Amino acid sequence: MLIIDATSGIETYIESCDNLPAPYNFHIGFINLCSPCYEKGEIWTYQKAAKPQSGAIGKLSSEVILKFIEKLSNNLEKVVSIGGTELADAILYHQEGLLIFGEVKSAPLITYPMLFYLQNIEIEKPHQKVILTNIST
Ligand SMILES: [Zn+2]
Repeated sequence: MLIIDATSGIETYIESCDNLPAPYNFHIGFINLCSPCYEKGEIWTYQKAAKPQSGAIGKLSSEVILKFIEKLSNNLEKVVSIGGTELADAILYHQEGLLIFGEVKSAPLITYPMLFYLQNIEIEKPHQKVILTNIST
């Protein structure tokens, strides 16, 4: 969900595909490939990736990683994310008074495609973009 928050205009990336598994008819991909087409028939179909800026990914993944460290490390009193242009990404406060300055790298981050079932939307051709104009309840 963090990736969704960090990607501006993500709703414009929702696209139809005939190869989606039932009951889904639309999806968002985070790579430049329609993964349902490739999975079903190894057909390479271009789909523009919905990617947040790398700086946004780094900030979000740093916050997640630091929360894991804080929850899993019993000998830390607190973990403070400082990031930005500071000298370190975080300060870890050890229970014995030590300060540990940390740098967080984002390479382990992976994204998965998101699948949707949207009702009452006419699809004229495969890989058509959907335009969401309002939400009905
Ligand atoms: Zn497709």
